[in-house]
Amino acid sequence: MSSRSLSAVLTALVGLAALPVAARPGPADPPSLAVRVDVPTQLPRNVRPTHYDVSVTPDAAGLTFRGRVSIAMEVLEPTADITLNAIDLTFAEVRLSEGPAPRALPAPKVAVDSAAQTATFTFERPLPRGTYRLALDYSGRIGTQAVGLFALDYETPAGRKRALFTQFENSDARRFIPSWDEPAYRTTFDLEVVVPSAETAVSNMPVAGRTDLGDGTSRVRFAPTPRMSTYLLFLAVGELDRATTRVGETEIGVVTKKGALDQARFALDSSAVVLREYNDYFGTPYPLPKLDNIAAPGRSQFFGAMENWGAIFTFEYALLLDPSISTESDRQSIFEVAAHEISHQWFGDLVTMAWWDDLWLNEGFASWMAGRTMEKLHPEWNTALGAVTGRHVAQERDALSTTHPVVQHVETVEQASQAFDVITYQKGEAVIRMLEGYVGADAWRAGVRRYIKEHAYGNTVSDDLWRDVEAEVGKPITAIAHEFTLQPGVPLITVGDVTCRGGASEVSLTQSELSKDRPEKTPLRWSVPVIARSVGAGDPVRTVVTGGKASLSVPGCEAVIVNAGQSGYYRTLYAPPQFARVAARFPAVDPIDQMGILLDSWALGRAGRQPGSDVLELAKATPVDADPQIWGQIASIFAGIDDYYRGDAARRAAFQRFAIARLAPVFARTGWSPRPDEPATEAILRNKLISTLGTLGDRAVVDEARRRFRASATDPAAMPGSLRKVILGVVARHADAATWDKLHAAAVAEKTPLVKENLYFLLAATADAALARRALDLALTAEPGATISGGMIAEVAEEHPDLAFDFALAHMAAVNEKVDASSRSRYYAGLGGQSADPAMVGKLKAYASAHLDVKSRRDTDTAIARVEDRLRVRERLLPAIDAWLAVR
Ligand SMILES: [Zn+2]
Repeated sequence: MSSRSLSAVLTALVGLAALPVAARPGPADPPSLAVRVDVPTQLPRNVRPTHYDVSVTPDAAGLTFRGRVSIAMEVLEPTADITLNAIDLTFAEVRLSEGPAPRALPAPKVAVDSAAQTATFTFERPLPRGTYRLALDYSGRIGTQAVGLFALDYETPAGRKRALFTQFENSDARRFIPSWDEPAYRTTFDLEVVVPSAETAVSNMPVAGRTDLGDGTSRVRFAPTPRMSTYLLFLAVGELDRATTRVGETEIGVVTKKGALDQARFALDSSAVVLREYNDYFGTPYPLPKLDNIAAPGRSQFFGAMENWGAIFTFEYALLLDPSISTESDRQSIFEVAAHEISHQWFGDLVTMAWWDDLWLNEGFASWMAGRTMEKLHPEWNTALGAVTGRHVAQERDALSTTHPVVQHVETVEQASQAFDVITYQKGEAVIRMLEGYVGADAWRAGVRRYIKEHAYGNTVSDDLWRDVEAEVGKPITAIAHEFTLQPGVPLITVGDVTCRGGASEVSLTQSELSKDRPEKTPLRWSVPVIARSVGAGDPVRTVVTGGKASLSVPGCEAVIVNAGQSGYYRTLYAPPQFARVAARFPAVDPIDQMGILLDSWALGRAGRQPGSDVLELAKATPVDADPQIWGQIASIFAGIDDYYRGDAARRAAFQRFAIARLAPVFARTGWSPRPDEPATEAILRNKLISTLGTLGDRAVVDEARRRFRASATDPAAMPGSLRKVILGVVARHADAATWDKLHAAAVAEKTPLVKENLYFLLAATADAALARRALDLALTAEPGATISGGMIAEVAEEHPDLAFDFALAHMAAVNEKVDASSRSRYYAGLGGQSADPAMVGKLKAYASAHLDVKSRRDTDTAIARVEDRLRVRERLLPAIDAWLAVR
């Protein structure tokens, strides 16, 4: 691998974004349907669908369905072959008819290519240009993981139930309908489904008609959809309840299993305020007559919710508030998930990326929009601090050499699946936050409104957004946007000399790059918008660091904060004298900058760019009454350091004593008992501290958690709902065999899916290796539920990564049944990537070469890079921390 220069990266990517045209598109073809010669997996562009009439009859008990589809299509160039996407479908009858007054033509031959996930229909003679209908009778499978049409089973007091749902992103509509299953093919859909008469069906559009078929089943027909991509189609069938409210012309609904509507009230109310906000922000009102959010029991290893147009799908844990188990952070995450998915109704559904290269246009934007909307509608949550954490997580990944640009090259289904990662979401979000900060919120919104208006019902690439924002803003942003989205990596701004002159600080800045595993590489160049200010004095000063250097004059002679307000996507390294000044004034620093400085020093300390103990200096300097989120972050950093000591009990104990002593006065502030009217952030901190102190082995916390668990058998108040998960988490982590058995018995007896799932995850969250092995064995049985087992194994990997990885590989066939088919290549990498054992590097390599196509190895390569980084950090960080602790 050679070092990348900006121009080489830009040339490569701009060439790619220009969509080389190798075949002539039809006259009315949208440019997004031009041929991409660099993506040979795309379907031929000689035929274009315009409408699907689909009818399905599921056999829920038999896990199969029958389908009938009639596809209206245009043949753009004479052809004897039509290729579309299909997988795991069996074709019974195929008919072709021609023209507005249909005339039957001879049936074609069908050839299925399951590796390519296509079906090709070959005709006796080439079809001339014109309009046709291709009618197919077929059958397919109902899965038990969240892919295609799938079943979720769940317990109720009235016995076991089964409901059906669909999940098509990124490339699984082809398991449900033989179709042109790429985002650029927008068509309308007429969907109907035959269901048991006692059951309800929900889709993107309202029910247009329901006919009792007289045999215990009914045919439900939905209103036609607008022109949209296949991956956004949705169907749910089951014993469901629905509650609604209205915002203007739109009916907003939540759909749950029978009897759970009360728990969806917060999601319904939140959806209404969010929709009102977005109608205003986007300037184009939500275009469908209704917007449902459908809750489903169970889990996926890969997503929590899906933005199907008009019919958002959300797993129960991210939508329902159950007073017996839900916490304040669950509330925030329900709001955030709803805000994210609803913003996709515009960014994703109304305007869709042309291809998966630009997935970040969906995900980065929705993540940013959700964050911005939480800050606006729930200022008391102060979630701007959480966005700093999100940026940090993205930079952790982006500083490894296996990273990729925000806009990336995607060829295969697996690569599209792997594109749903922290770079696409959190870096995408952070880049938008920076650009919005650079141009101003009003100008940014004007650009977004123009983009939505201009591209409604169309497909776009990233440059469409930059062009529209630039047109409104009146200053160039495309160059900066390209540098942050077309090249990978993390800019590093070093704060060098600071001199005080005439009441202002003269600050010199240099730009390099933070890489955790290639320190010798030539840094990439970015134009970095920088905001700086003095602690507690003066207005912020703005500049753009270009060409690697800048100097600026900041009013005041106090310690200077660079990246003030934390909207910039870069790390800040303070030269030692500047860091000492910042640390000395740390209590007076704005909480959002405290967060940024903490996380930068934590990252830079581990990367060997600043003393590893600096983050502990900051933790020491933080006052007990600091913002709860700052203490929550310090607790997370302590847990991170503790984890680096894994396997070294003596040194670990010394660190744990320090960490417990530092957190104890903060925990004294929150106490065990929730107080009425306390801030949400305080309630979240309480749970965070109980969990972290439990992990650190704080005797008092572990004993009290155990006492409350025992007492809860007779006194429910000992374990209120808001503390249930965290108390049981401490108990499970430190469980002996008898306690584990008790938790297991509770899991078996439990009838509420949310509570039951949590109990099975707790069984897997034990520190004891022998009990963890029992949890792994249990995960392979049918007992926990088909979609829970994958999460249990992943939970074991948090504490026992080598055990979990070895086990999963040894039982690969069984484990594959418990994981979403299209995302398996990510799952094993996720287990092994948490290891600190040098042997894991070889194991991951062996796994990749035995099981993964060369093009599907990014997650495994990243897992290897993470293990290697962990080994380096242990070598580097822990001695610095030992030495710092020794002088205390
Ligand atoms: Zn999303």
